[in-house]
Amino acid sequence: MSIFEKAFGPSMDIQNFINGAFVAPVNKLKFDNINPATASVICTVPDSDEMDVEMAIDAATAAFPSWQKTSNEERFRILHAISTGIMDNLDKFAMAESLDTGKPVSLAKTVDIPRSAQNFEFFATAIMHFASESHEMQDVAINYTLRKPLGVVACISPWNLPLYLFSWKIAPALAAGNCVVAKPSEVTPLTAYLLGEICQKAGLPNGVLNILHGFGHKVGAAIIAHPKIKAISFTGGTSTGKTIASIAAPQFKKLSLELGGKNPNIIFADAEWDKAMETTLLSSFRNQGQICLCGSRILIESSIYEKFKEEFVAKVANLKVGNPMDGTTNVGAVVSKNHYHKILDCIELAKSEGGKILIGGHPLKMDGDCEQGYFIAPTVIEGLPQNCKTNTEEIFGPVVTLQPFENEAEAISIANGTNYGLSATVWTSDLKKAHRMANNLEAGIVWINTWMLRDLRTPFGGVKQSGVGREGGWEAMRFFTDAKNVVIKY
Ligand code: NDP
Repeated sequence: MSIFEKAFGPSMDIQNFINGAFVAPVNKLKFDNINPATASVICTVPDSDEMDVEMAIDAATAAFPSWQKTSNEERFRILHAISTGIMDNLDKFAMAESLDTGKPVSLAKTVDIPRSAQNFEFFATAIMHFASESHEMQDVAINYTLRKPLGVVACISPWNLPLYLFSWKIAPALAAGNCVVAKPSEVTPLTAYLLGEICQKAGLPNGVLNILHGFGHKVGAAIIAHPKIKAISFTGGTSTGKTIASIAAPQFKKLSLELGGKNPNIIFADAEWDKAMETTLLSSFRNQGQICLCGSRILIESSIYEKFKEEFVAKVANLKVGNPMDGTTNVGAVVSKNHYHKILDCIELAKSEGGKILIGGHPLKMDGDCEQGYFIAPTVIEGLPQNCKTNTEEIFGPVVTLQPFENEAEAISIANGTNYGLSATVWTSDLKKAHRMANNLEAGIVWINTWMLRDLRTPFGGVKQSGVGREGGWEAMRFFTDAKNVVIKY
């Protein structure tokens, strides 16, 4: 019996979730979903196309008039019930996320799934507090702003944090009164599928959320091009973001794009050593380095460069790479065979660009169940110039580079020297320096002496080619509503 069967019962076909029911794609086509830790088939996935999109959009369109009028209290109740439903099934969701992605099940259980539940909880309460402005023109008139849901919107998410990012979009869209057609990545469909069951039990009316599975270039492209889709919230690669923008812009769809990153992690000599070291280990290799916020470029002040390098490499050597189901594993498998080869090609490129591999730089063969899995040794590279491809293009794997810098100005120049601008981390005990760095870094998020600490009320997103628009808090609620100004003359 496979591990999947043990967790979920006999092997099954994932189905689309349309109008409150689980249905096969109209064309009956399907493809295999592979567990990257074992290279074995988990289940099959619908290879949906524009016929399924049409059905989903019809269902969402029919559900919208009633959903937009549903009271905030009722929307709160349903989203809260979805959140509770996820946490009631924490083990099942964590297992599914780990099987799909190759991430340690311990990570899925402590980060991915609790945060997904929190996303629904957060936006459940947000709709109870969301208010709009009024502007008085003294003795002349009063303006007030109404915020109306948009209608049917699309939410498209990637494979690295599947339910976490899927729910980060769906929850505010639903809270604001929209109906949703959503697509998870085709390589990680399991938790999105399980979410459908939770929504049914939570009493979400039919058609309010529709989940389609399949390939981005096929069903994803059909969703975003559909004239009835009023807004697109997309997280994924920068090149996919460009394609989506080129289709959405001429149709004047609202667009939120959360794209790639090549984030600097800047360590000054006056940093609190142990905290900087331990957190850098996490920001480099958590989720196999496949988080858009990972600090893949470690910039170290020259005076501590050799000492930091030596200790960091020794700690990397102690990371346990292995079976994601083992509770003591730090680093699991990368998400797919394609991605595994892409990362290994990037490592070869780094070598050809003159990089010196300090540790890792090769695939890892496991024993037992994971013998055929896609594992890569955590890799640290030094000696590369700032403007080479390895230091400017996203790898999205367990690979980091080290670069020395002499002073603040040089740190800023290296840090800002890519087309990306998602996040940056700064380690220093000097408050004034921290403020100067935060002010000068080209990034949507700057962490000082921490990493990935998130308050869901804050704006989240990137500058330059890392994206357009912001998610989180009121930013998300505003994105998923249209403002209407009403003027009443006194
Ligand atoms: P992709 O851009 O390949 O895919 C993202 C999603 O878009 C998937 O569901 C994909 O489907 C779908 N898609 C692909 N092509 C189209 C299309 N033409 N029309 C509509 N949908 C499409 O990204 P990855 O899944 O490879 O994810 C990794 C990327 O995501 C990295 O670049 C990473 O930096 C970025 N990311 C950004 C974050 C941020 O907040 N800024 C957070 C997390 C990741 P399919 O899988 O079937 O191709």
